[in-house]
Amino acid sequence: LFSLANRVALVTGGHRGIGLEIALGFAEAGAVVYCLDLPSSPDESWRMVQSWAASLPEPNSGRLEYVSGDVTDQKAMWEVVEKIVEKEGRIDVCMANAGIVHVAECLEYPAEDFKRVMDVNVSGVLFTAQAAGQQMERLGIPGSIIMTASMSGTITNPNQHSSAYNISKSAVLQLARSMACELAPKGIRVNTISPGYIYTDMTRSILDTQPQPASLKEKLGAQNPMGRFGRPDELRGAALWLASDGATFCTGSDIKVDGGQCA
Ligand code: NAD
Repeated sequence: LFSLANRVALVTGGHRGIGLEIALGFAEAGAVVYCLDLPSSPDESWRMVQSWAASLPEPNSGRLEYVSGDVTDQKAMWEVVEKIVEKEGRIDVCMANAGIVHVAECLEYPAEDFKRVMDVNVSGVLFTAQAAGQQMERLGIPGSIIMTASMSGTITNPNQHSSAYNISKSAVLQLARSMACELAPKGIRVNTISPGYIYTDMTRSILDTQPQPASLKEKLGAQNPMGRFGRPDELRGAALWLASDGATFCTGSDIKVDGGQCA
């Protein structure tokens, strides 16, 4: 039910953090996964991919391919997906996951930083989903588009000072619902995953800007009922389910993976 054998996936923001873990989960389920990210040091990725390959119990059809790209470039995103389809003949799963945060108080939020967060987190998600969705429609593939939203699209964490991020994630939730309605007649599903605090580079960057002492910073991760940060690999299951035939009647939904923080 959850196999992705013979499926092709694209994961943006796929060279580290949540995106890389989800990509590994897809590949473990048998998919060919294209991990797209800004050109960056692949050190962490390579280490994780090597240990992933070594941990596989038996030969697996899944594999990872790295591509560079910027999700805010609509034309480039179209070309990336077109190349994937040229090479693999299809695209079944699109994980629009790339995102950024910028910490600043509302009254002083710099215009350029506000625009950049919206460009990456909203336009970038739209351009990624458009490029994949158009190919899925053209090829008649009952694909799955998944967007990484956030608990911050639903609730506001005091002292986080990331209004642009919160707004952008609310927009992703509504973008997914709008797209889900439009694409349902074409057999394409669109859903979101809303993580709580997951311990990645992004979270570390927010913690570093907190004015509180370290002991209080640690408590941020303990705000949810489970009392801890999530790990990036704990997003694999929700993404795999939404990508797979296990979720064929699920569209326009948001899956919260937040230790109960939004409960
Ligand atoms: P991360 O910073 O570790 O990884 C994000 C990746 O996106 C990076 O590799 C970065 O290079 C890439 N990226 C940024 N801008 C890009 C662009 N223009 N084009 C292509 N790639 C780009 O962050 P993460 O924690 O793994 O976050 C992944 C997603 O999960 C984001 O959308 C984030 O908002 C969301 N999220 C994270 C948390 C958390 O606590 N970490 C919580 C809720 C939601």
